Amino acid sequence: MILPKNPRLTPEQLTEVTAIVTEFGCKIQPIIGAVRTIYAIVGDERDELMINRLEGLDYVDRIDRIQSPFKLMDLRSDLANGRLTIGGVTLGRELFVIAGQCTIDPKNPNYFYETAQAVKEAGAHVIRGGVWKPRTNPYAFQGDTKSLDILMEASRRTGLPADTEVMEEEHIRLALDAGVTLLQIGARNALNYSLLRAVGRAIGNRADRAVLLKRSIHMGPISEFISAAEYIAAFGNPNIILCPRGTSPAPDGYRNHPDESITPLLKEKTWAAVVVDPSHSVGKAAYVPACALAAVAYGADGLCIETHVSPSHGIGDDPKQALTPEVLAKTIRQAKQLWALRHAS
Ligand code: PEP
Ligand code: MN
Repeated sequence: MILPKNPRLTPEQLTEVTAIVTEFGCKIQPIIGAVRTIYAIVGDERDELMINRLEGLDYVDRIDRIQSPFKLMDLRSDLANGRLTIGGVTLGRELFVIAGQCTIDPKNPNYFYETAQAVKEAGAHVIRGGVWKPRTNPYAFQGDTKSLDILMEASRRTGLPADTEVMEEEHIRLALDAGVTLLQIGARNALNYSLLRAVGRAIGNRADRAVLLKRSIHMGPISEFISAAEYIAAFGNPNIILCPRGTSPAPDGYRNHPDESITPLLKEKTWAAVVVDPSHSVGKAAYVPACALAAVAYGADGLCIETHVSPSHGIGDDPKQALTPEVLAKTIRQAKQLWALRHAS
């Protein structure tokens, strides 16, 4: 990793370092952070001769040689100095809440508009709504690109940034073009390395877009989760939020095995903000508030909670696991109190 003395390299300096690393069979990937741009050396970056030449350049502050399988996501990486701000909230400074429907029903857009307004009043900072849905059954409703307009209309009406899941490169393009702020990589695609690369590349240096990376249902070691995030960062976009959402197998009665307890482990290894999704963890509205509070107790920076003005009229997961706006409001109030307790000096 090349750390320049100034916030970024000039085009001439970039040409010079690119020429040096190319001689050694490597490439440069700029990673534009909140404070400065750093330059990942992609390839075998251990050649001492190359490192010496780069260290000798008077505009290079230092070459960071973090011995970590996830150099960019590592807590010691230079990217740890930046913080994400979304929907007016700087993550880590106040509890961050994403809320909204699992799935937008394109036949009933008013439910979504009402949900968006209600989650805003309940204190959410981002409106979520599934446009394209990964469904276990191929005959189940798969989502509808028309819902993207509904999502963005709700975002305009409320002023809340939008979050939606992308499952293909085409979705990434459509979502970015429409103005979606938070691109969600779902549990089923968190191990889809070509999609991770694509989202890193597509967002690139845009500071106004970020990725909410869910933990895969089947991820084992924490490092597998962080490495998935490293893919996104290594291909150009460091605006990443990690989202534990329950794993498999689940204890009887829960949809998944709640995994908010990995939050301190993630925070020990990486600088990324952690936003827990209690809805998919426990999978039943009655259990969601407890799981949300547990997440805050474990040190989560935020929550992603499925909410619907009328859950029984929802589709996808909403009838089972969406909170009503009233329960969401109470959960956010309590979570904020717990957050304050946890952050009191
Ligand atoms: C969702 O957020 O509605 C969703 C499908 O989540 P996950 O990828 O965690 O299952
Ligand atoms: Mn869902």
